Amino acid sequence: MQKKVILKPGKEKPILNRHHWIFSGAIDSINLENPGDLIEVFSSEKEKLGWGYFNPKCSLIGRMVCFGKEDPYKALEKSLKNALFLRHRLFSSTTTCYRLVNGEGDLLPGLIVDRYGTNLVIQIGTLGMEKLKTFIIDLLLRLLPDTSSIYEKSSAASRLEEGLEKNEGHLFGKKIEEVEALENDLKFLVNIPLSQKTGLYLDHREMRTFLGSLSKGKEVLNCFSYTGGFSLYAAKNGAQKVDTVDSSNFAITYSKKNFEINNLSGNFNFYDMDVFDFIEQNDLSSYDIIILDPPAFAKKRNQINSASEKYQMMNRDAMKKMKPHSLLFTSSCSYYIAPDIFKSIIYSAAKKAGREIKILSSHRQALDHPINLFHPETEYLKGFVLEVL
Ligand code: SAH
Repeated sequence: MQKKVILKPGKEKPILNRHHWIFSGAIDSINLENPGDLIEVFSSEKEKLGWGYFNPKCSLIGRMVCFGKEDPYKALEKSLKNALFLRHRLFSSTTTCYRLVNGEGDLLPGLIVDRYGTNLVIQIGTLGMEKLKTFIIDLLLRLLPDTSSIYEKSSAASRLEEGLEKNEGHLFGKKIEEVEALENDLKFLVNIPLSQKTGLYLDHREMRTFLGSLSKGKEVLNCFSYTGGFSLYAAKNGAQKVDTVDSSNFAITYSKKNFEINNLSGNFNFYDMDVFDFIEQNDLSSYDIIILDPPAFAKKRNQINSASEKYQMMNRDAMKKMKPHSLLFTSSCSYYIAPDIFKSIIYSAAKKAGREIKILSSHRQALDHPINLFHPETEYLKGFVLEVL
């Protein structure tokens, strides 16, 4: 029997609108000898919709890699070239770490590639992309001939649902551990094997730049600092005092190292502790700017309510203690906390804190994490800069 997928009547609509995902309920018939292989997808009217890969273990059973009559391998190559073209437009030699491939945001479902200098770190999230790994790596090496190493950090919990083990390790070239990369001329020491994510939280670059522009002469508190991103921008731009808080010893150790390699010294303090305790135990009234950039509190849809409560309480408690006219950089990277939900969380926090709030700006993920207009699930990060009166 020919390998193909036929959708139920009406279920072709999202695909015709170039959305990448197919849920199992949309499938009329499927002939899957080898789960994860690329196969052709047809509507109930036998119209060819494109090519996708399918994994019967998941309710999100399929992801399209191309639409219409395109050849899937040519389409994958085109999507990768387009992704590289965008990054070459966005970055110059002052920023050498950035996201090269942002999954569905770059029409490459299941694939993340981040660049740290000439080192690439890849994350594969699906069985289908796992099967395309050699093809993708060959392409990356052909398109980026100066690549000195490739490291795989496929550690997302979602791999388990796909029936895949976590997979971490060296794939190509020189074995690496610590590498130095630049973000807007600031040096970051990145320990690729031991880091969170692929190495850095690259998605906050513009928000960090904005923070830097407001920091001169100010006292700044950076909560959930990771390896000190916001803190470094504040210090480099003349902050009078910077306090950096994270409960990961690794994060605080690398924050200190990053201050050292950038030759930043002054009233810069590091706290290896829980942010909730820090906010509860300390007087926050000397800070001009506070950053709250927590990890995703909602990792699943059924956690929306509990996560909302947590975001609300944290923002409320900080707002209560902030001095008049101070600024709060607050964000959520939970995809499930939609922008309107996050705004209503901030609204409740302000009300409960009894503070007047002005929204000065709204932020989203950095430009190298593009949102695919036809695939809105690619938007996940939202942030506000608020003036607390
Ligand atoms: N703002 C950072 C990224 C933050 S990621 C940047 O620009 O790079 C979230 C961080 O929160 C991680 O470093 C994690 O170690 C830390 N974290 C998670 N829960 C925490 C808690 N309860 N208290 C303090 N830090 C926490």
